[in-house]
Amino acid sequence: MSRDSEPPQDPGTDPLRDPARLAALHATALLGSAPEESFDRLTRIAAEFLDAPLALVNLLDDQRQFAKSCFAPPGWPDDPNSPVEESYCRWTIVERQPVVIADARKDERVRDSVFLRDLNLVSYLGVPLILSNGHALGTLCVAGFEPREWTEREVRLLADLAASVTTEVELRLDVAERRQIARLKDEFVSIVAHELRTPLTSIRGSLGLLASGRLNGTPQAQRMLEIAAQNSDRLVRLINDMLDLDRLQSGRLELNPARVEVARLVEQSMHAVEGAATGVQVTLEARIDPGLDVWADPDRVVQVLVNLLSNAAKFSPPGAVVEVVAENRGEQALFQVRDRGRGIPADKLDAIFERFRQVDSSDARDKGGTGLGLAICRSIVQQHGGRVWVASEWGKGSTFFFTLPREPRPAGE
Ligand code: ADP
Repeated sequence: MSRDSEPPQDPGTDPLRDPARLAALHATALLGSAPEESFDRLTRIAAEFLDAPLALVNLLDDQRQFAKSCFAPPGWPDDPNSPVEESYCRWTIVERQPVVIADARKDERVRDSVFLRDLNLVSYLGVPLILSNGHALGTLCVAGFEPREWTEREVRLLADLAASVTTEVELRLDVAERRQIARLKDEFVSIVAHELRTPLTSIRGSLGLLASGRLNGTPQAQRMLEIAAQNSDRLVRLINDMLDLDRLQSGRLELNPARVEVARLVEQSMHAVEGAATGVQVTLEARIDPGLDVWADPDRVVQVLVNLLSNAAKFSPPGAVVEVVAENRGEQALFQVRDRGRGIPADKLDAIFERFRQVDSSDARDKGGTGLGLAICRSIVQQHGGRVWVASEWGKGSTFFFTLPREPRPAGE
């Protein structure tokens, strides 16, 4: 079939392939779903009021057109899927307005379509289903087998019905979103329960052995006490981190910003990490633009730096150097914490900022972390109006970056 009459589409700007539109469409979970009375009622009304033999709610991804509801005469094909290039409805998404076709044989957009050739779809009126977030997901359309001049009143009527279809689609999105939140909550509870149980099991094991008296007077008894103490510390850290993150994410943690000298913050943070770094034979170094200051909550910035520095030290080989760099970038200060450790694989660069996400599932346990440090860093930096990210090459080290404002933010921002 010749596509000569169709205006060329640049795949980069083809609205049908817009990834954000497709994501919104998939989020409805309506593609491929079973017929539902709430949609069928609207196609029935459309067919009845516009006196058309055919009325459909079509949803379009980048490949296919899916009829979520189809009011059609007997003999109309059963399969609700058809290729999107053949679709009349696609033009409502491309043009983002009602598509009025009096005679498809004379309309260059659709005169080559199989719908005309095989199904004799001659007249067509379609209105795009545009969500309140601006994405056009599909079309409410009516069609017939004879040429037909559609009136303005008919276009208005179909547009009103299309608004009702859109409301139905948005209801699905609300339900899907609520389900997703409930799922994330369940997932979080099970992760937290697991994270708390691990150190508790260790403590219980050590205490059990001590209580049995079998280790009395042996060096293992001391070791068991150390294990119990270490795991109790881990539990306290975990709970403190969880409380911190909860306060940060719910906006209940007030920042106390002030003008602070970056050199002082870095010095304080390095001091806090020194013991742990020396323990793993890592040297800490700093390079800070002279006189650099930021408008930030000093305690929280130290918390971010301590987290990043202790991670950098933890994941560095013995003898390595970890470097903090802070530069004046005009309205912002740019911080970098660089290590020459094992690095982070490209597919984990974003994920590690999520709660309890690690490169390796043993990282938190083996390295004594809680898996919450970077999520806390991100919340603190974002609350200051800054950004945090990481660049890394697997096997060669990582650089964590974050920005902080140098001046107070104007009120209302
Ligand atoms: P944790 O308390 O486990 O360190 P974080 O949220 O601070 O939790 O870090 C999450 C995970 O990100 C770590 O468990 C580790 O897998 C990875 N990670 C963080 N910093 C580094 C680093 N400098 N080098 C390599 N991996 C890192």
